[in-house]
Amino acid sequence: MEFMPEFRVLRPASVEDAVAARRDDPDACLLAGGTDLVPNIRRGIVAPRTIVDVSEVAEMRDIRERDGEVRIGASVTLAELIEHPIIRQRFSVLVQAASEVAASSHRQVATVGGNLCLDTRCVYYNQSEWWRRSNDYCFKHQGEICHVAPKTVACFAAYSGDLAPAFIVLDGAVEVAGPDGNRVMPLPEMYRDDGRDHLRLGPGEMVVAVRVPAADSWHCGYVKARVRSAIDFPLAGVAAAVKLQAGSLAGLRVALTGTNAMPLLLQGTEDLVGAPLDDDAIDRLVALIPKQIQPMTSTVTPPGYRRRVVANMTRTLLRRLSAEARR
Ligand SMILES: Cc1cc2nc3c(=O)[nH]c(=O)nc-3n(C[C@H](O)[C@H](O)[C@H](O)COP(=O)(O)OP(=O)(O)OC[C@H]3O[C@@H](n4cnc5c(N)ncnc54)[C@H](O)[C@@H]3O)c2cc1C
Repeated sequence: MEFMPEFRVLRPASVEDAVAARRDDPDACLLAGGTDLVPNIRRGIVAPRTIVDVSEVAEMRDIRERDGEVRIGASVTLAELIEHPIIRQRFSVLVQAASEVAASSHRQVATVGGNLCLDTRCVYYNQSEWWRRSNDYCFKHQGEICHVAPKTVACFAAYSGDLAPAFIVLDGAVEVAGPDGNRVMPLPEMYRDDGRDHLRLGPGEMVVAVRVPAADSWHCGYVKARVRSAIDFPLAGVAAAVKLQAGSLAGLRVALTGTNAMPLLLQGTEDLVGAPLDDDAIDRLVALIPKQIQPMTSTVTPPGYRRRVVANMTRTLLRRLSAEARR
């Protein structure tokens, strides 16, 4: 790890001031809880001259319900999210996913916005400066090769946040503010499958909040595989939401993390609507996964293992949700 470099810290009190601060210095970095950004600074991967700390922006700090939606500020910490009565009552999938992030000390400061905007990860990238230098760096930072797939020109660093798949199956959308104004976009649209540049946020744009429709009759859950169960990023994670009517599927959403450079909303699940949620339907659902995921050797476990784990976790989760929905 490197020493912390010199930088100045700005603490705007409003979204407008935060956007203005970044307009004045396009290289300025946003800081929320810092649990991802600070290790990257200490590894010499990021070297901002200005840090814009958004932890004191009031409109990014609360959780409220309005017009059939629950709005969760980007600076809400994971500990606050887990403890909030609305979230505990209606969105247990968010409680499940947030409780799986890092350790309880991280969750006291780590935020929803920071988790959704987490940098992609790779064993060749999340290393010290001297380690990366001795390997001639890589595509993601300063280098001209992808060590994971040397014959390609793509970067396969994986998105490894736990919250995004949970928000995606809840049909979440993000409020974004930037120099050209504010917009709301469905969460899956904020990501692209490019490990170097996985966020579709324009220059100076930031996430202000996430909105989820106030829950109705969906049954949702999240499961995760990791090397160390006490504290670790997902090797793979699966969130699912099912809606049953008269024993048949009226809705089905499945989202994955850890397998691609972005969290992935599984395509093709609408073909199962109308079928009973039985083992045959679950087999058909699991058969959709292999062509859509692309786990690479970006972690310490082999891609083949992660492929099998995703399939098995999806099967187990769907059986659990099917049983819950029938109760
Ligand atoms: C030991 C360890 C274990 C971890 N395990 C996990 C894990 O199991 N699962 C997991 O998901 N994460 C894990 N993390 C990563 C991290 O702790 C969490 O993802 C956390 O939620 C990040 O939030 P933060 O507020 O600390 O983000 P920060 O570090 O402050 O920011 C992360 C990134 O998001 C950007 N950003 C922050 N806020 C915004 C915003 N409002 N709009 C746009 N961009 C923004 C920052 O500029 C930065 O690039 C782990 C980290 C460590 C150190």
